[in-house]
Amino acid sequence: MPHRPVSTIPRRLLARVRDVMAGAGSAAERLERIAAVIAADLVAEVCSVYVRRAGDVMELFATQGLNPDAVHNTRLRMDEGLVGDIAANARPLALADARQHPNFAYRPETGEEIYQSLMGVPILRGGRVIGVLAVQNKTRRSYAEEEVETLETVAMVLAELVAGGELIETDEFFPADGTALLPLRLEGVILNGGLGAGVAVLHQPQFRVGNLVAEDPALELERLRRAVTEMRGALDTMLGSTELAGRGEHRAVLETYRMIAEDAGWLARIEEAVGTGLTAETSVQMVHSDIRARLGKAPDQYLRERLYDFEDLANRLLRHLTKGEPPRPEVGTGADVIVVARSMGPAQLLDYHGPSLRGLVLEEGSPTMHVAIVARALDIPVVGQAKEAFTRIEQGDPILVDGDNAVVLIRPGEDAQNNFAEAMRAIAQRRAGFATLRDLPAETRDGERISLNINAGLLTDVRFLEDTGADGIGLFRTEIPFMVRAAFPSVEAQRVLYAEILDQAQGKPVLFRTLDVGGDKALPYWKHAQSENPAMGWRAIRVSLDRPAMMRQQIRALIGAASGRALRVMFPMIAEVSEFDAAHEILKRELERARARGAEMPNAVEVGAMLEVPSLVYQLDALLSRVDFVSVGTNDLFQFLFASDRGDPRLAERYDFLSPIVFALLRTVLEGCRAADVPVSVCGEAASRPLDAMAIIGLGFRNFSVPPPAVGPTKSMIRSLTLGPLTSYLETLATLTHHSVREQLREFALDHGVMI
Ligand code: PEP
Ligand code: MG
Repeated sequence: MPHRPVSTIPRRLLARVRDVMAGAGSAAERLERIAAVIAADLVAEVCSVYVRRAGDVMELFATQGLNPDAVHNTRLRMDEGLVGDIAANARPLALADARQHPNFAYRPETGEEIYQSLMGVPILRGGRVIGVLAVQNKTRRSYAEEEVETLETVAMVLAELVAGGELIETDEFFPADGTALLPLRLEGVILNGGLGAGVAVLHQPQFRVGNLVAEDPALELERLRRAVTEMRGALDTMLGSTELAGRGEHRAVLETYRMIAEDAGWLARIEEAVGTGLTAETSVQMVHSDIRARLGKAPDQYLRERLYDFEDLANRLLRHLTKGEPPRPEVGTGADVIVVARSMGPAQLLDYHGPSLRGLVLEEGSPTMHVAIVARALDIPVVGQAKEAFTRIEQGDPILVDGDNAVVLIRPGEDAQNNFAEAMRAIAQRRAGFATLRDLPAETRDGERISLNINAGLLTDVRFLEDTGADGIGLFRTEIPFMVRAAFPSVEAQRVLYAEILDQAQGKPVLFRTLDVGGDKALPYWKHAQSENPAMGWRAIRVSLDRPAMMRQQIRALIGAASGRALRVMFPMIAEVSEFDAAHEILKRELERARARGAEMPNAVEVGAMLEVPSLVYQLDALLSRVDFVSVGTNDLFQFLFASDRGDPRLAERYDFLSPIVFALLRTVLEGCRAADVPVSVCGEAASRPLDAMAIIGLGFRNFSVPPPAVGPTKSMIRSLTLGPLTSYLETLATLTHHSVREQLREFALDHGVMI
């Protein structure tokens, strides 16, 4: 029988299912009718709905095509038959020949032996399986992926009817003892690393408002003003807490928030609404709805994210009006807590902050999001973009947050819990092991000293210099402080920040990279068209040279900050020497300007280029005659070398950094730098993987900059490495045309006792 094009099915089918659901008849009758609609639409002879009953039994509740007498008589255990398989694993099955499946169970009362093919999907509610929806065909039929998706979509709609309480008591699905909960794993993006375990606290800031109309508007205005004053006082106390009192971008973030709290326009609008006779609570909500409607549509991400600030403030104000309690964990005191939210303003996290806060899971979020910056300052693991986290996690669910791998485990089984606890112990142990290396030099067994530095992007990151014992900051990405602010920071604000970074580094060298904005690192206050291909677009030095005022200001601030000490600067994304020259010219002019003004000058100035665009290799000699140092940015260099987007997971394993091609390029760079006697370092993620770092050292590089957590593992690798055999081994690999030599190098490391 010819099947209809699947792409036309879902909408029409969904509309019909919805019609039946909303129509007349008992829930059981409607379920029967829906089964008939689905069978007809999917051109299947059978459509059946199984509902999960207490005791983990799947009971047939409705069927089109199977023997009607089987309804309420056919019952399968969770591990019995194909329906049990779908329920137990919470995943669909699509089988052209169902009888071949090892879990096929024949039920004579249904008459189903005549059906050859089966496609079934779980009916899910809040992450739990509450039923199974299945269709069957007599003839052999290979169900298309789109058809499975269609059935899953219908199952989502059906879940409402099944869980509605008419078919069976909802208690059966959601027993108070939580026995029906299934483990769930969500993946997201890393917003802050680290591991955390605790019970879920759902961040639900919504307040319900009772009275809409005020009896006495004047009194209402009085109430509102009192609440505002109280709120501001409470905010002052919270934001001034000693732990967060230090300087840093999180301060800027919280101050932006504080400014919004002071925003006269916002309050004036609420007062205006009160003036029309509404209660203060209703007025707050009304103004907030309006803000949400406007900001939600804003094309600019920064503005959209301010919505969280307003949301937070509106809820805070409502809390003061209703004398409500802050959203403290509703779990037993002392329990460790993982906060789960759709998204959150920065100050809201502080409501939860305390020794029991162990992690944060967000459905939305980007690394420069304000709450992520605050979480970084508080050292709390955060996983963002965890799809459906808020709907699928229940209050009190046990949760494991793996911020290093961007994974959230919900209601984990005993094994997963044990593994996680084991991983946390192992990490703590490894950390303790690395801590013992902190004051030892990064030196190979044959006495070669490697300079080991950290990458940083926030003032709070500078503390890792002390924690890790790194030699210095080999890459300070200056863009984040620009991205989290509401407006371009003034020269003075920048100078203060850079000076603070140098102060806190206590004499260890800091290498500042000038702004690498543009592309996907948009500045909120700066409009420019989105590029189709942001990594290769108008970013970094290209933006700086086209908008030299911005660069001049940054360099002016850097010179001011470094007065009396060394200034080390490099320019990102240099593709040709003339770009370096132009940027260098700006630096020279700013130095002259400072001198002419009689300012105290840096006692040394070193200027370099990042080598992260392959074209620059063809002007290497010319570059080397101009720079004091070169820093190889492996992230961009690798993606441009192979024309392979660094953020595309489908390409993650397509090309390997440990390949003869990369080695050839790095060798050229190294030999050039050696001949010209120009120091060269490597920053970027490749250097943070001990095996990759081993290869880079084997090629001859002696200076690294890695993310702080990689310092310990890299140092441990270096201290277990003997250079001689590695250097000669790498030479034998050079002539290979392999896609990757990772395996060979891994074996080398294992054979030679290198800690990778
Ligand atoms: C790089 O490209 O390797 C690098 C260090 O710069 P970023 O990751 O900031 O682009
Ligand atoms: Mg780069």
